[in-house]
Amino acid sequence: MRIARFASGDEVGFGLVETDSDNGEEFVARLSGHPLLGDIKLTGERAKLSDVRLLSPVLPTKVVCIGKNYADHVEEMKDVTGESTDEPVVFLKPSTAVAGPYDPVFHPAISEQVDYEGELAIVISRPCREVPRERAKDVILGYTVANDVTARDLQKRDKQWTRAKGFDSFCPIGPWITTGMTIEEAQNLALTTTVDGQTRQDGHTSQFIHDIPDIIAHVTSFMTLLPGDVVLTGTPAGVGPVETGQEVSVTVERLGTISNRVVARD
Ligand code: MG
Repeated sequence: MRIARFASGDEVGFGLVETDSDNGEEFVARLSGHPLLGDIKLTGERAKLSDVRLLSPVLPTKVVCIGKNYADHVEEMKDVTGESTDEPVVFLKPSTAVAGPYDPVFHPAISEQVDYEGELAIVISRPCREVPRERAKDVILGYTVANDVTARDLQKRDKQWTRAKGFDSFCPIGPWITTGMTIEEAQNLALTTTVDGQTRQDGHTSQFIHDIPDIIAHVTSFMTLLPGDVVLTGTPAGVGPVETGQEVSVTVERLGTISNRVVARD
């Protein structure tokens, strides 16, 4: 299933994104309940996908991010963030950084360098802590696409990453949550990032240093994850700046594309 959250007229709701078998058009079938409560009930109402506005597919209580999870990215960033580590590097983005799949990313005036970081994101299905590797699959609702937008100059200057990673709009996610994939499938996906159509990142989730069960086990060893929480799995090589006016798109195979234009904050 592909679970989206969308606005149509004055209403906001959840729906399943499906393809009409007659005309090949994509549409959203509205749900009556909340999918995080296991409520997948169709109302019978449907709208063309192009007629609704897709929102971030979840409103997480927190976005947990893994840093330095691709060897080639660790190499390109070692002057800023140092060598690789035995345990996953974990940091947080506030819930207020989350934006929709096609929303603008606001370029803060205080930063000289705002970078994109295309990432695979895990969406959590249930409250969980101390999850062993072998049970990681039981707490995953599905997967989505994220951009871990980063004010790189502030990341260097501040020594820690809260401000650099935490501006409003610095975590676009979407376009929907794809369920029904195994962890093995999620760890075998091409990931590309483009800026104004030019490819900047061309990675693959098979290149993870820390795999998804390790990430879930490590994060939940010290933090309870709640339904709808989002875990970003790190970015491959090729990170770089995006300027005001440019559009950055992240595509993960089978999951879709998010596209966000960078705009100046008035
Ligand atoms: Mg990142």
